[in-house]
Amino acid sequence: MSESRNIVIVTGIPGVGKTTVINTAVDIVKQKHGEDVLVLNFGTEMFEVASKTGQVKTRDEMRKMPTALQRKNQKLAGESIAKKARKTRVIVDTHTLIQTNNGYLIGLPEWVIRAIQPKTVVLVEAESDKIASRRSSDETRTRDAQAVSDIQIHQEMCRAAAISVGTLTGATVRRIMNREGKVEEAAAELAQTLME
Ligand code: ATP
Ligand code: AMP
Ligand code: MG
Repeated sequence: MSESRNIVIVTGIPGVGKTTVINTAVDIVKQKHGEDVLVLNFGTEMFEVASKTGQVKTRDEMRKMPTALQRKNQKLAGESIAKKARKTRVIVDTHTLIQTNNGYLIGLPEWVIRAIQPKTVVLVEAESDKIASRRSSDETRTRDAQAVSDIQIHQEMCRAAAISVGTLTGATVRRIMNREGKVEEAAAELAQTLME
């Protein structure tokens, strides 16, 4: 690799399809290049801490917890991810803005992102009405109801947050459209970013 940094952070609003696109991209990298990619899910790292200490029962309850507690768990998760990410190719599946009961919590504040030092932050986007329907048809998760106009605003704010990550770390910022029924296309772009 000509690039010394090895971590790609994948962000985007809930239900846009981050995890789906990531899983497909990992398969593409394996098939085309015979390489493994380590996927670290920030929410899973936080849930390990929050569930062990009895704070929550499901991952979707975490964003409703007092924000001070979320920030504390976030810091621990960030440290754990930075430690585990010392591998060739790593994806961190996470959010730049978490919708809490008290406004947006910044998902990658300076003290978290400085430890991770990504090469690229990917922002996955989709048509706002399609995100609304993906959320309502996904029964595996408890997703917040959000008007299509609010989904649009949330996506716009995520653009600003992705740029902030680039500003703080020098990472490139890549927007990937996850078009309806076209996961493979979005995943191919992510695979290309991973193999840079
Ligand atoms: P969260 O942030 O809450 O973890 P996410 O961004 O990881 O959400 P996924 O769980 O990957 O989102 O996808 C949400 C739903 O949308 C799933 O049911 C998935 O199958 C569906 N989906 C993902 N991408 C597409 C697509 N391109 N076209 C149609 N449905 C899709
Ligand atoms: P996910 O499966 O990606 O939706 O993550 C589950 C939950 O983990 C989210 O709803 C948030 O509560 C939490 N989470 C994920 N990433 C972060 C982050 N960077 N900072 C704070 N909370 C996060
Ligand atoms: Mg996900």
